[in-house]
Amino acid sequence: MRRRVFLWSSAALAACAARPTSAPAPVSRARRFAVTMDDPSLVETPRLDVAARDAAILATLAARRHLAALFVCGKRVDSEEGAKLLHRWSAAGHALGNHSYAHRYFHDPAMTVVEFAAELKKGEAVIRPHRTFTRRFRFPFLKEGDTKEKRDLAREVLVAQGYTNGHVTIDASDWAFDARLTKRLRREPAADLAPFRAAYVAHMVDRARHYDGLARDLFGRTIAHTLLVHHSLLNALFLGDVLQALTNEGFTLVNADEAYADPIYRSLPDTLPAGESLVASIARSKGAVLRYPGEDADYEKSTLDALEPPASGG
Ligand SMILES: [Zn+2]
Repeated sequence: MRRRVFLWSSAALAACAARPTSAPAPVSRARRFAVTMDDPSLVETPRLDVAARDAAILATLAARRHLAALFVCGKRVDSEEGAKLLHRWSAAGHALGNHSYAHRYFHDPAMTVVEFAAELKKGEAVIRPHRTFTRRFRFPFLKEGDTKEKRDLAREVLVAQGYTNGHVTIDASDWAFDARLTKRLRREPAADLAPFRAAYVAHMVDRARHYDGLARDLFGRTIAHTLLVHHSLLNALFLGDVLQALTNEGFTLVNADEAYADPIYRSLPDTLPAGESLVASIARSKGAVLRYPGEDADYEKSTLDALEPPASGG
């Protein structure tokens, strides 16, 4: 198992323990989590078409009576068919959050805060007609500012527009597993996906344990987590297995709105570059040394390579 480097200074630990709070945080021993899903799209994939993929994900959530948070990148669903997809999620009661219009990389030095604000407004226009639109913003790539000025101004934009940050606490690389699975199916439509399922579930359990451990070290309690996954073929096939595995680990699903009520989501960690998992950011702001980026396809390369069929000689 890959473990990130995690070094506490005793001063940082003491600062953590002694941190005064105006009101005591609600103490909960339950390991709670909510599904937060990014980037619904209309792209064609092997095995399942758009409607079947979307229906499978919605059925997985409905089977658990779970109300998730869907973070919508406007350009991917800015069409009649896209509006229908958003309507299905809204009708099922899932909160629709804003994930910008064009999914631009905020840490690009060429991207300004003015452009960031325009992206937010343009993305909002796609989602606002839907009943469960919620003013919660998830930064593309979880990148919240590479300079203090951009980070702080982006936070001001969110407040001015009435938004809160749609943070992730359990970050993961489901997108890397999905990319490899899709590529494999294009090459070999009948490929056995059982090894993919096992590797993906193990990855998600490993990341959940890691970030929950980090949260318990930081706060002396487990928090209401937000799990990051994407609206993908991978999750149309295996999200149910992930949720079952996390349940077996002792995590209980709570609706996304309930998870976001945890006071941790009001934190404004002082880190640069800003973003990624909120618990990782808070840990870094208190002196923890963590790998950066927190999650990346490179970290999963050996796991994903091991899923490839042996080269057929010649
Ligand atoms: Zn995204």
